[in-house]
Amino acid sequence: MKYKIILFAFLSFFDFACTQQNKSMAFLSKYSKLEIEYYQQIAFKEDKIRKWDEDIVIYIDPKFDDQFKKFAARIIFEVDSLIPNLKINISDKNYNIQILYEDNNLNTMGAASTKLYFLSSKIKSSIIWLSPLNSKNELRFNFCHELMHAFGLYHTKKFQKTHSLMGYNMFKSIEDFEVFRETFHSIPSIDKKALEIHYNECIESGLSKKDLLLLINQSLS
Ligand SMILES: [Zn+2]
Repeated sequence: MKYKIILFAFLSFFDFACTQQNKSMAFLSKYSKLEIEYYQQIAFKEDKIRKWDEDIVIYIDPKFDDQFKKFAARIIFEVDSLIPNLKINISDKNYNIQILYEDNNLNTMGAASTKLYFLSSKIKSSIIWLSPLNSKNELRFNFCHELMHAFGLYHTKKFQKTHSLMGYNMFKSIEDFEVFRETFHSIPSIDKKALEIHYNECIESGLSKKDLLLLINQSLS
């Protein structure tokens, strides 16, 4: 009997959540097809939307130099303004995202690891490692890339239409690539839009790929 009551409570919750989504996916009409296509491609690590639904406090390793700390603070402020329903702050106390200036055991220039709450797709905490072997230019780009992971977004190899943080960026030459990294000082517009869409209250954590596609098609038809 107890189980039936619990099951009923779950079903009611999901039913309510879906009704809410159907009503309000109209917000997507302010985004271009390209922006929605990119978002769809980076929205999943596996089959469920993962996102934060609580305020975020970010710890920045004091080992970073002042120039990087300033850059990181500006980017975090920018992300905060894109996600009005969550507060994002920087502090060395009670943090749930850590940004560390050290190598991870994967031998990559950057990595992120995200923990979820038990039986949930809600993010509980995240750690970003940035290798001290990064050049200054690489460090800025890799920080923004890993920050997208910490907020629940992933890669796509399919997206090559414009330079982005999570797509497969194609360059005509090494020089073009170097110019892109040197002049990289803020989150590309297409990634800002993806963060906005991901944190719109109509995109619920736990939503599947199939259901997201269905909701997007319904709202755009
Ligand atoms: Zn990555």
